Amino acid sequence: MPTINSNYLNLKAGYLFPEIGRRVSAFAETNPDAPIIKLGIGDVTEPLPEACRVAMQKAIQDQGKAESFHGYGPEQGYGWLRSAIAEHDYKARGCDISADEIFVSDGSKCDTGNILDIFGPGNTIAVTDPVYPVYVDTNVMVGNAGPAGDNDEYSGLVYLRATAENNFTPQIPEQRVDLIYLCYPNNPTGAVASKAYLKQWVDYANSHGSVILFDAAYEAFITEDDIPHSIYEIEGAKTCAIEFRSFSKNAGFTGTRCGLTVVPKGLVGKDSSGNDVALHGLWNRRQSTRFNGASYIIQRGAEAVYSEAGQEQVKGLVSFYLENAKLILEGLASQGLECSGGVNAPYVWIKTPDKMSSWDFFDKLLSEAHVVGTPGSGFGQSGEGYFRLSAFNSRASVNEAIDRIAAKVSV
Ligand SMILES: *Cc1c(COP(=O)(O)O)cnc(C)c1O
Repeated sequence: MPTINSNYLNLKAGYLFPEIGRRVSAFAETNPDAPIIKLGIGDVTEPLPEACRVAMQKAIQDQGKAESFHGYGPEQGYGWLRSAIAEHDYKARGCDISADEIFVSDGSKCDTGNILDIFGPGNTIAVTDPVYPVYVDTNVMVGNAGPAGDNDEYSGLVYLRATAENNFTPQIPEQRVDLIYLCYPNNPTGAVASKAYLKQWVDYANSHGSVILFDAAYEAFITEDDIPHSIYEIEGAKTCAIEFRSFSKNAGFTGTRCGLTVVPKGLVGKDSSGNDVALHGLWNRRQSTRFNGASYIIQRGAEAVYSEAGQEQVKGLVSFYLENAKLILEGLASQGLECSGGVNAPYVWIKTPDKMSSWDFFDKLLSEAHVVGTPGSGFGQSGEGYFRLSAFNSRASVNEAIDRIAAKVSV
């Protein structure tokens, strides 16, 4: 009998979304006529942009003719897509990122986990609290986190507390850490990082020899002018940061699957003898061995995001969700609820009224307003006493949800 990776036994039960599902099903069973509105999980609801669908249909036709058929593509992604990304997402914002520093994938959730393949054991890992749970669980799986303590936190991780007092941008730690996960605009708080704040991180990372793993999945939702869309807008980031991006939230690719990772050529780690080794080469080797590239059809769909029509349509999608977010933010604030986020992100982060626990507030909204959100405590202990509502739903459902919450909750 083979042994197993016993690090998996250190994982806390995947509690949050199954528990939400369990409570919603139980409620629906006893209240079959209650019209439940779900503003819980972070999945988009609007259809794919037409430009992407047309490009994918054409790509399917290509696959039907020997002259234009595509078999295995480059593991790093097709050159035409990597160039379009470099041009539109980086050069246009003044970031010196070239096409061959970009790796196309089937989504950024897997990349944020897979990246640990190229880092060794014994690194000190910092995560924010609250946090996107993937960063924590993938570190548990490779043995970086150790067992969970009584408070459900892992002894091997450094937790950076994101609170209302620090505008959900945690203080830079005193101690040295090797890897730092940052996600801005943030899931779940909807907070953003200013240039000055990210500059502090970049300076910290360069002076301590740390690597920042920057998740920019929500950059398209930034509406304020002075907020950076990429970590590479910060001077010095090319020697200390890897960036993850996704077509999931801007272009609605959650079910279509395409993302990308930027590993700058000048970025290094240390081997066991203390010599510098370029991370770009390691990631290239990792992807070439374990990955055979994203689908040709899907990459054509992603390329169309950068066409004139695609840009227009993506802008439309993002504005639609941002208008939902604004309605939620203003609707709840007018009831006296303390809310943040929702301006540069599709999430509104709500402080529960009367010091209610996150789960008590969840139960109250479900039973009284028939609205489902996500308890903040599911993202970490600093999320206790908070609640996340997502802007991913129809306008009618969002308006209805706000009216129902207003009728049931005011402070
Ligand atoms: C949605 C999301 C992603 C994107 O994941 P995909 O695998 O590309 O769909 C990445 N990071 C965060 C924090 C997200 O919320």
